[in-house]
Amino acid sequence: MTTPTDRKIAVIGSGASAAGVANGLEASGVDAEITIFSSDRYFSSLPRSRYEPAGIEQFYDAVYADIRRTAVNYPPRKTFFADPVPCHLVDGEARFFRTEMFGGQTNIWGGTVLPLAREDFAGWPISREELEPHYRAIADSIGIAGQPDRVSEFLGLDYSNAPAVKQLEGFRCLQDHLAAHPETDDYRIYAGVAPSAVETRSGAATSCVECGECMVGCARDSIYSARNALKRSIDRGEIRFVPSDVRSIRMDRGNPEVCSVDGHAERFDRVFLASGCVATTEILMRSLNLSAGPVLQDNSIAQFPILNLSRHSDRRRGDYFGLTNLLLLMAPTSSRASLLQVQLYPNVDYLWRTLAPAWSWKLVRHPVRWLRDRLIWARAYLDAAASHQYFVTLENDRIAFAEKNSPDKAAISRCVSSLRQALRGSAFFLLPFAPVVAHTSAHLAGTFPYGAGSTPVARDGEVMPGVHIADSSCFPTSPVISPTLTIMANARRTALEALRK
Ligand SMILES: Cc1cc2nc3c(=O)[nH]c(=O)nc-3n(C[C@H](O)[C@H](O)[C@H](O)COP(=O)(O)OP(=O)(O)OC[C@H]3O[C@@H](n4cnc5c(N)ncnc54)[C@H](O)[C@@H]3O)c2cc1C
Repeated sequence: MTTPTDRKIAVIGSGASAAGVANGLEASGVDAEITIFSSDRYFSSLPRSRYEPAGIEQFYDAVYADIRRTAVNYPPRKTFFADPVPCHLVDGEARFFRTEMFGGQTNIWGGTVLPLAREDFAGWPISREELEPHYRAIADSIGIAGQPDRVSEFLGLDYSNAPAVKQLEGFRCLQDHLAAHPETDDYRIYAGVAPSAVETRSGAATSCVECGECMVGCARDSIYSARNALKRSIDRGEIRFVPSDVRSIRMDRGNPEVCSVDGHAERFDRVFLASGCVATTEILMRSLNLSAGPVLQDNSIAQFPILNLSRHSDRRRGDYFGLTNLLLLMAPTSSRASLLQVQLYPNVDYLWRTLAPAWSWKLVRHPVRWLRDRLIWARAYLDAAASHQYFVTLENDRIAFAEKNSPDKAAISRCVSSLRQALRGSAFFLLPFAPVVAHTSAHLAGTFPYGAGSTPVARDGEVMPGVHIADSSCFPTSPVISPTLTIMANARRTALEALRK
């Protein structure tokens, strides 16, 4: 039941968590004016329009040419069709993305979506059972390509509702090997096709054509983006859009007033903070007058190659899915280990085409294709305790970070040696290179955790009267498992519970 005062509702942000809130508001049937505050970058024009019209091959040739022109590192940081995504700095070094775009990180994300394990809810004010209806509702709204397998068996939940993404033959062979040899000294390994928010139903207008160029940006919009979902509601007049960034929220005669950086100020009955962990933290620190206190968690990723010398590799080399082809959950069987998620990527063309000049692609495309499932890239996500953590401060009114925790080398080597042990007797080999730790996993959480801590946060995310955190800022820990399905489901729950007050 909504209170009669819930007439004006603000949602700060336009990413996955905002889409989760919008889903909850719609389900509640609330009769209110709903306003989204967010950057309008990419709202009405996308960078891909620069390269159209063209066949898919010419389209990506042109985007790669632009990425090569502008990239400073190798492999280049993720762009959105060659548009760079700016980063927050730590000690002068680029770390996590600034997601000031309509649709947030879902413009550039990997689309892996699965629920958390039951144990992940240990520090939460709710159980996984309470979140299950919201997981289901979000899965129905975004669409999940997947299938029941060992991963869903371990989790005890499967939300897939569309055919799984294409898995290259070498990955299927590796999955079969791990199914037969799951035990290591420290872990039991569960392997499956990654459940993905990708349109795979044949005949659908945005169905994936398996061109493999997902790292550049999906020209067909096959990968779920909050941008499309929210823009539809705005275009239909169901949601009002204020294209401006929010600076802070102050209380005005008992109601929250949203204050934008451009001077816009407006009172609301209820506000949902869904601007992503970093921006929500910055807005809250200003609003609560905090100069220090929050600690930001960012699961570290160790990256390393696996060589496939088996007889199995894909023969239909023309088409592939350019993101996670195989997902491992490594469940601890010893007290010194903790849950790991490992995403296994093909040797995507992106790695070559962002490095070498265009003319060389014609010469090397066949050997590079041959390597797609012969050279497999593992990305192992460590738990929050073994990962990057940052002290957050507000300096000169801007958010700043100082390293509190760096990735735990022992956890990384335990992961690598366990995988090596599991692959013994197979034709898959871990190459003898030290894993490279990524700058960020972009899985950020934990700055204003639920509970009665120094800033109390209620189970409906309420942190100031009428102001509710609806993104991962309120997660007690940043989970190893890809968080976005949980972010969206929890945002939906937050909206429904907040309106029931
Ligand atoms: C390269 C990459 C790959 C990823 N792959 C996966 C994956 O495979 N699976 C997975 O689960 N997760 C993945 N993630 C993480 C996932 O994208 C995020 O967890 C998720 O998108 C977070 O959603 P959000 O809405 O909370 O925040 P964001 O996506 O950060 O959105 C924040 C929104 O708030 C707006 N905003 C920011 N500041 C303000 C302000 N001051 N005022 C108003 N609005 C503001 C922004 O414009 C944006 O719309 C990936 C992330 C990246 C970068």
